[in-house]
Amino acid sequence: MEKRTELYRGKAKSVYTTDDPDRLILLFRNDTSAFDGKKIEQLERKGMVNNRFNAFIMQKLQDSGIPTQFDKLLSDTECLVKKLDMVPVECVVRNYAAGSLVKRLGIEEGKELLPPTFELFLKDDAKGDPFINESHVVTFGWATAEQLQRMRELTLQVNDVLKQLFDDAGLLLVDFKLEFGLFKGDVVLGDEFSPDGCRLWDKETRKKMDKDRFRQGLGGVIEAYEEVAQRLGVPLS
Ligand code: ADP
Ligand code: UDP
Repeated sequence: MEKRTELYRGKAKSVYTTDDPDRLILLFRNDTSAFDGKKIEQLERKGMVNNRFNAFIMQKLQDSGIPTQFDKLLSDTECLVKKLDMVPVECVVRNYAAGSLVKRLGIEEGKELLPPTFELFLKDDAKGDPFINESHVVTFGWATAEQLQRMRELTLQVNDVLKQLFDDAGLLLVDFKLEFGLFKGDVVLGDEFSPDGCRLWDKETRKKMDKDRFRQGLGGVIEAYEEVAQRLGVPLS
């Protein structure tokens, strides 16, 4: 697979075209950002850890019948994916209260949420990724009602699969964000799943093992990501 031109440079990944018009290469960089890109640092090894972590999770989801973009790992920091027409909406599921939910509604951090919540945010850094609802998505044409229904269904399926996977590794899947896109008319899971886009707490100690360590300046960010990977059995180099 030949890597051609850079299509897009995001905050953490670069996206390249290939000689196949239906395939892209995602390059995971060491750049780490928070607060809509206002805090940015380079963290050694992060590109490799997140690329390998994402490959492992996407494969598990694919094996559970969830359609994903993932084709194969190409190197420590690159993978080959289906080229999706991305829906500019972030789907967030929460099993425990944390982050913006705590700030917005004053819910106690760590409270178990039964059933889990499902929330939508517009993917737009300039607007601070605002909280939106289902009617906004349909009215403004970001997705059809049917596509949105499928995104919701797949997000909840991902939650079922990953909650169990992390539980078996002694971790609570607190919350996570997914992005979807369209491939030949079907809704497919895109972007990535890594500790950059979810919250993971140790089940016993509730130690934060995700990007909150970076957001909150707690240190040991990559060490925590590597520990999560090791507990799951993700092969790192
Ligand atoms: P951001 O855009 O938030 O800064 P990244 O640095 O992760 O994020 O950049 C990756 C970009 O590639 C994101 O905008 C994401 O929506 C997009 N993307 C991810 N997977 C695919 C895919 N399979 N096809 C097309 N675009 C994708
Ligand atoms: N998230 C993300 N990208 C975003 C916004 C949120 O990956 O642009 C993830 C975040 O890591 C967390 C979940 O989505 O796992 C819920 O985030 P929240 O709404 O609590 O926002 P935050 O506290 O990150 O501002």
